[in-house]
Amino acid sequence: MPPVTTAQRPLKQQIFEHVRGLGQVPRVQVARDLRVSPASVTTLTSELIEAGLLEEVQTPREGGWGRGRPAVALRVRPGGYYVMGLKLSDREHTAVVIDLAGRRLASATVARDPRPLSVKATLDAGETLMQRVCAEGGITPDQLSGVGLGTPGFIDGDTGVVHWSPVLDVRGVDLASLLAERLGRPVQIDNDANLVTLAELWFGAGRSLSDFAVVTIEHGVGMGFVMNHQLYRGARGLGMELGHTKVQLDGALCRCGQRGCLEAYLADYALVREARTALNLPDPETRSVGVLLESLYEQAKQGNPAAHSIFRRAGRYLALALANVANLFDPQLIILSGERMRYDYLYAGETQAEMKTMMLETGRAPPALEIHAWGDMIWAHGAAALALQELTAQMLGNGREAAPREPGAREGALS
Ligand SMILES: [Zn+2]
Repeated sequence: MPPVTTAQRPLKQQIFEHVRGLGQVPRVQVARDLRVSPASVTTLTSELIEAGLLEEVQTPREGGWGRGRPAVALRVRPGGYYVMGLKLSDREHTAVVIDLAGRRLASATVARDPRPLSVKATLDAGETLMQRVCAEGGITPDQLSGVGLGTPGFIDGDTGVVHWSPVLDVRGVDLASLLAERLGRPVQIDNDANLVTLAELWFGAGRSLSDFAVVTIEHGVGMGFVMNHQLYRGARGLGMELGHTKVQLDGALCRCGQRGCLEAYLADYALVREARTALNLPDPETRSVGVLLESLYEQAKQGNPAAHSIFRRAGRYLALALANVANLFDPQLIILSGERMRYDYLYAGETQAEMKTMMLETGRAPPALEIHAWGDMIWAHGAAALALQELTAQMLGNGREAAPREPGAREGALS
């Protein structure tokens, strides 16, 4: 693994994240990989073991000659601490309970009315899911060290306020505090795309990468970005709204109320809007978005030129978006995620070729692209990773409150 620029992350955190990323690793290799002295690694891993974050495991020596003591490796301590991840979406709500090592203890799902819900109905659903998933996992809710909550929309993770979400019938709700009060557990909140990015960072392809992007295509279009091993949210926690970057002046109407957003050309509802016209569907059309898209996909595969052109056009907008992401951030990897990635027209060879033509010509290969067609459970896992992130930050002694805000610099500038 190449050395990474990690100057601003405490060494103890780097060691914990390194062990987490590799699964199981001897101290001597940690020292080698992070280019620090074995003595520092020994001191800091003792503290991590003391804090209950890591543990030692015996591993057979290489070569298996059986001489001397077995080798000792470090790994994240499973069990002991549990967190719940909760994902609100427009069709169903899902929950998982995982331990510190990311092992899933239990999961649960409740169906819901697809219309935007009241705050009370949302809190009720959260409570029902917590009871169910804890019963399923054989633990009590008070054994949960924290809860991560994910919803689509504009979410301020620092304040816990949902500015707007398609699953809620009101704007500007302090949903994290309300849910924490209802559940009696600390709650962290974030949007879908950040959650799936956290899931990749903690449990997936991003474990060993310092800088990568995740672009999600579902009912909306989202993006999460990991910069220097950490989720980047912007100064006020509202950045990375790739779906609402404008790709057309005075263009198609978006769910956010503005025109010309990427999402209005690429998300579920954009494809369905075009499908209605192209496939001459009856109005009102009563089939669900999922069923309609499946039918559109079938027709494209059977050679219906109108259906095919809808996916191709969406694929071109995706290429444009990916090229913009690459030109802005230069990530090592872009992961395309979400249920819609089953529709391979979106990321066919033409899309990747178009992306390349829209990137600056630097003589280097474009960032690697990976497609991850996760089910809905990945979002709940990401929500759980959000709670894990907060829990481990507290255990490492640098909770979110301690995040650098540089008050000194600001005061200095004013004086
Ligand atoms: Zn928009």
